[in-house]
Amino acid sequence: MTDEGLQYKPWWSEGLNFSCLGCGRCCRGDPGAIWVSDADVEAAADHLGVYEDHFRRSFLTKRWKRPSLREKPNGECVMYSSLTSRCMIYPVRPPQCSLFPFWPSLLRTREDWDKAAVDCPGMNSGRFFSAEDIETLLLKSPYKDL
Ligand code: SF4
Repeated sequence: MTDEGLQYKPWWSEGLNFSCLGCGRCCRGDPGAIWVSDADVEAAADHLGVYEDHFRRSFLTKRWKRPSLREKPNGECVMYSSLTSRCMIYPVRPPQCSLFPFWPSLLRTREDWDKAAVDCPGMNSGRFFSAEDIETLLLKSPYKDL
């Protein structure tokens, strides 16, 4: 008998726990892409009260395949305020940030998830997300390669 046609449960079928502790670790540290769509740029510029064109010139880079938020020389996201230790566009932050850690790449295997959890103290504790919740979040990901 082959396993053709069988639909295996994902490893997270019993659900996962996550609550953001607001530590800001994911906004600092190693460089990485935070992709933004035109709508994300519009919302962020509007939130900051600046022109979109200015936002693009000052805060975006194309070094990550798609338009992405830049990093400061010290590795912090350009939208991270070290004065307040908060994201300056938090209410309108890009989906990549609001969906974290429920990214396709981190949900691929338990190992991928646990590797990310080493740097994020909010993973594996706090709010319970059922498999249904996780599926809903996965469907919201605008990037399959996220
Ligand atoms: S590293 Fe995790 S707990 Fe800390 S701010 Fe980012 S998502 Fe929240």
